[in-house]
Amino acid sequence: ASYHGTSSSGSVKHLVGLNEILKDRHVVIVEDIVDTGLTIKSLMASVLEHQPAEVRVATLLYKPDAYHEKIPIDHIALSVPNDFLVGYGLDYDGIGRNLNHIYKLVEE
Ligand code: 5GP
Repeated sequence: ASYHGTSSSGSVKHLVGLNEILKDRHVVIVEDIVDTGLTIKSLMASVLEHQPAEVRVATLLYKPDAYHEKIPIDHIALSVPNDFLVGYGLDYDGIGRNLNHIYKLVEE
């Protein structure tokens, strides 16, 4: 978890630890959305500690204008503008996760 409301908190909270043995395994990290890259950087560091054979990153959504990191994002379904999105699993402080489509949040 790295988001509060519509902005990145600047730090990553690990909610669930790794409970698989990853040594010499081929690992794919599957993300919903890659934004600044803070989450992927933190996940990558945790996974690499376990000495896997290879780590790749796959994401449904990717915000190229927000991404600051050098870690390659190997598989991207859709590149999106730097907006705050909800629905299809993406939430706004717990709300909107179950919407069937992806929406851009508009401030009124
Ligand atoms: P990053 O660490 O790359 O800045 O952000 C990755 C995480 O922040 C995602 O896994 C997601 O939880 C959250 N996030 C980033 N952008 C959005 C967005 O547009 N909408 C929602 N709902 N979450 C986002």
